[in-house]
Amino acid sequence: MSIDKDPGVLSLAKRLEMSRLKDENARLRVELASRVQALDATGAHYCRNAGVLLDETSRTATCRGCEKTRDLFDVLLEYAHHERNFAFAQKDKQNEIKRLAVELLELKKERANLRAAIRRGKASGG
Ligand SMILES: [Zn+2]
Repeated sequence: MSIDKDPGVLSLAKRLEMSRLKDENARLRVELASRVQALDATGAHYCRNAGVLLDETSRTATCRGCEKTRDLFDVLLEYAHHERNFAFAQKDKQNEIKRLAVELLELKKERANLRAAIRRGKASGG
C-alpha cells in the first residue's frame, strides 16, 4: 500500500487540513469584525433596498432596515440614481415598443400578401 492510501496517513492529513481551515476561518472572522467596525466608524450605510422613512417635521431620514439616521444628501443622491435608472429603463421599453410595432406592421403585410396569394391560387383553379 502506498503511503498516501494508508487510512491512518489520510486521516492525519485530513485532521491537519481541518485544523488549518479552522485557523483560517478564525483569522477571517477577526478580519471581518475589524472591517465592519471600521465601516461603522465612517458612518457608512449598507442596507440595500431597505427604504427610507422621511420625517417632514424633524426633516430627517431614517433607514427602514436598521433605523439609523441617514445623511440627507446621501438619500437625495440615491433617489437621483434611482430616478435616472428608471428613466433609462423607460426609454429602453419605448424603443422596444417602437421596434415591435414595426415588426407587427411587417407581419400584417406578410399575412395580407399570403392571403392574396391563396385567393389567386383558388381563382386560377390551383
Ligand atoms: Zn440601514
